[in-house]
Amino acid sequence: MQARPKPTEQADVVVAGAGIAGISTAYHLSVRHGVEKVVLCDPLPPLTLTSDKSTECYRNWWPGPGSGMVDLMNRSIDLLEGWAAESGNIFNLSRRGYLYVTADPHRLASMRSEAEAISTLGAGELRVHRGTPDDPAYTPSLPSGYEDAVGGADLFTDGDSLRTHFPYLSRAVVGGLHARRAGWFSAQQLGAWLLDRVRTSGARLITDKVVAVEASDGVVRGVRLQSGASIATTRFVNAAGPLVGEVGKLAGAELPVFSEVHRKISFRDSHSSLPRTAPMLIWNDEQKLGWTDEERSELIADDRLAYLTDPLGPGAHCRPEGSGEAVTVLGLWEYHTDVRTPTFPIPDDPLYPEIVMRGLATMVPAFGSYLERLPKPHIDGGYYTKTRENRPLIGPAGPEGSVVVGALSGYGVMAAAAAGELGALHVTGAALPAYARWFEPDRYEDPEYLELLDRMTDSGQI
Ligand SMILES: Cc1cc2nc3c(=O)[nH]c(=O)nc-3n(C[C@H](O)[C@H](O)[C@H](O)COP(=O)(O)OP(=O)(O)OC[C@H]3O[C@@H](n4cnc5c(N)ncnc54)[C@H](O)[C@@H]3O)c2cc1C
Repeated sequence: MQARPKPTEQADVVVAGAGIAGISTAYHLSVRHGVEKVVLCDPLPPLTLTSDKSTECYRNWWPGPGSGMVDLMNRSIDLLEGWAAESGNIFNLSRRGYLYVTADPHRLASMRSEAEAISTLGAGELRVHRGTPDDPAYTPSLPSGYEDAVGGADLFTDGDSLRTHFPYLSRAVVGGLHARRAGWFSAQQLGAWLLDRVRTSGARLITDKVVAVEASDGVVRGVRLQSGASIATTRFVNAAGPLVGEVGKLAGAELPVFSEVHRKISFRDSHSSLPRTAPMLIWNDEQKLGWTDEERSELIADDRLAYLTDPLGPGAHCRPEGSGEAVTVLGLWEYHTDVRTPTFPIPDDPLYPEIVMRGLATMVPAFGSYLERLPKPHIDGGYYTKTRENRPLIGPAGPEGSVVVGALSGYGVMAAAAAGELGALHVTGAALPAYARWFEPDRYEDPEYLELLDRMTDSGQI
C-alpha cells in the first residue's frame, strides 16, 4: 500500500466555493470569529459561477410555515444594512421594494391572506389601501439608498389607487402588494468588499478544486485538491453552489437537492417603457400569451413548443438596473421548469427573450412596443439548486467537522450574509439562533418536520 503524501499545509477551516455563500462564511469565520487559518478554495475566479448571474434582489417577505425564512432574511438584511453603513454603501443597497401585481380578484384575495400570515411571522406591518378616504398613508420608496425606509408591506385592493403610484401598470391590474423591506444591491461589489476583508484578516483564497474530503473515525481529517496538494484540517465547509450535491458526496453526505435552470435577460429600454424609479415588479398570475393564428399554428405543430400556447405559470418579473444615464432593464420568467444536472454553460433557450418580453408586456403594456423588433438582449443565468421545500441546507452534513451552506436556490444573494453567519456558528460550535433548526440538513429525519413538509404549498420563489 502506498503511503499517503504529507499534507501540503494545515488549516483551521477549508471552505470549498468562493461564491457569495462561501465568501460570506469565510468572512464570518475569519473576521467575526477570529479563526486564524481559513482557506477558501475555488477552481474559478470568485463569484463567477452563479453569484454574478443573479438579479441581486432581496426581501424579507417569505411564507411560512414557521418564521424561519423571515428570520433568516431579516437577519441577512440587518447584516447587509450594517455592511452598507460600514462601507459607505459601496454595494449600492437600495430599498425600492417588490411589487407583486395581479389581474385576478381571486388571486388578490389569496394574496391578502398570505400577506396577513407573512406579516405575523415578523416581516412587518401590513397596511391595506382600499382606495377610500380613510386609507392609511402610503409612503413612496426612496429612489436610492436604504435608510429611513418603511418596512412591512402595502396591500392595494383597488387597481386605480395602485396605478396612482405606478401608472405604467396594465389597466387589467386589480391590486397588488408592495413588500417594503426589499430592494437590490450589487452582489459583485459586496462580494469583493467581503473578500477584501477576508484576505486582510489573514484568510487565503486558492485557485484549486476540492476532489476529496478525507475522514477517519467519523471526523474530517483533510481535503485533497485537484492540483495534487492536500490540506490537513478538521473542519470543512461545502459552499459549492450548484455542485453542493457533488461536493457533499465527497464528504459522504447525500444532500437532498436538485437544480433548475434559470435565465435572465438584460436589455436597453430605449423606449423608456419602465420608469427608472420603478421597484421590482412581479406578475403574480398565470398568463396565456397572445399569439397570432399563424404563430399559434406553428407552435402547435412543434411538440417541444406547443406548451407555449397553454397558460404559462406566474412570475414574469423585471426591474430597472443601473443609475444615472443607464437605461438597462432586467427581465426574467421561468415559464417552464427545467430540472437537470448542472452543466456549464447552461443550455440555450433561443425563445427566452421573446417570451419574457411578451410576459412583461402583460404587466407593463409599454413593453409591447418591443414585440415588433426585440432589443438585442444579453442573456445569462445559472441554476437554482434547491431542496424540495425550497429552504436552504445550513449545518452539519457528513463526518464531524463538515458543514454545508447551500441549496440557496433563487435567494442566495439575499440570504448569504445570514447563511454564512449561521454556517460559521456551526463550524465554531457557538450558540445558534432559534431559526437555525429550520435549515439543518438532519431536519428530514424529524417526523414532525416531514409532516409539515406535506403541508408546505408555497415555496415563496418567484
Ligand atoms: C437568473 C438568476 C437570478 C437570481 N436572482 C437572485 C436574486 O434576485 N436574489 C437572490 O438572492 N438570489 C438570486 N439568485 C440566486 C443566487 O444567485 C444564488 O443562490 C447564489 O449566487 C448562490 O451562491 P453560492 O455561493 O451558493 O453559489 P455559486 O455562486 O455558484 O458559488 C459556488 C462556487 O463553488 C465552487 N465549487 C464548486 N465545486 C467546487 C469544488 N469541488 N471545490 C472548490 N470549489 C467548488 C464553484 O466554482 C463556485 O465558484 C439568482 C440566480 C439566478 C441563476
